[in-house]
Amino acid sequence: MNKNSICDRLVDHGKALFQAPKQLIQFTKVPGADTLLNNLEAHPHAFILACVMNRQIKAEKAWLIPYKISERLHGFSMETLRHLTRADVNQLMTQPEPLHRFVDKMSEFFHSAVQRISSDYAGDAARIWMGKPSSAEVVYRFLMFDGIGPKIGSMAANILAREFKIPFSDYFSINISADVHVRRVFPRLGLCTTDAGTEQVIYKAKALHPEFPGMMDLPCWEIGRNWCKSRVPECAGCYMSDLCPTADGSI
Ligand code: SF4
Repeated sequence: MNKNSICDRLVDHGKALFQAPKQLIQFTKVPGADTLLNNLEAHPHAFILACVMNRQIKAEKAWLIPYKISERLHGFSMETLRHLTRADVNQLMTQPEPLHRFVDKMSEFFHSAVQRISSDYAGDAARIWMGKPSSAEVVYRFLMFDGIGPKIGSMAANILAREFKIPFSDYFSINISADVHVRRVFPRLGLCTTDAGTEQVIYKAKALHPEFPGMMDLPCWEIGRNWCKSRVPECAGCYMSDLCPTADGSI
């Protein structure tokens, strides 16, 4: 088994995804919600607020929250949002049905994110990634939002770079998001041990491809979702099967 060949193939696939033409990102498969989230020119704050909501619920549900609030508010301009009190947000998040498992905490995070976008970025969230900043600066700016940790910060920067084609001056600080698929695929490919935790997977990805560790993120996620199923991997269909030590029985 050659770890370099495995890494090279994952990176090559990641590069192909990175260089693919920009297209509508299907965050939710709800057309209105995806239109809102994809419109970084008119509503860059929708993307930030969805990232803030992205914890302890399924991602598809979190990405829907800005759209659900826009329906309840009949709009989603920063001018409208910045006048909402914390109680207003709480009501929007609660009625007629709760939008999140932890409505109180997430209302607090939503409200504080809107205030931060207003105060630090003059109401224009696109300033977070404008002017070809470094990846570290972009992740740092995401981390300044209450409720956003390193995993979501890296995920957000990765989506901006890979899907929205936002230029950064470097990609060193965009880490792999070690979700359940990545944590299953990495050891099966022999890139880490089966008992490796999240941090170990993250640092292994940094060691393998330091200039852009997150480049391997979507390839691993796709392999995990499509073929490398938790119970029985479907190696015959997987494009890593000729290199994979699990497929040939060597681990
Ligand atoms: S070849 Fe099989 S075990 Fe290896 S990554 Fe693909 S699906 Fe998983």
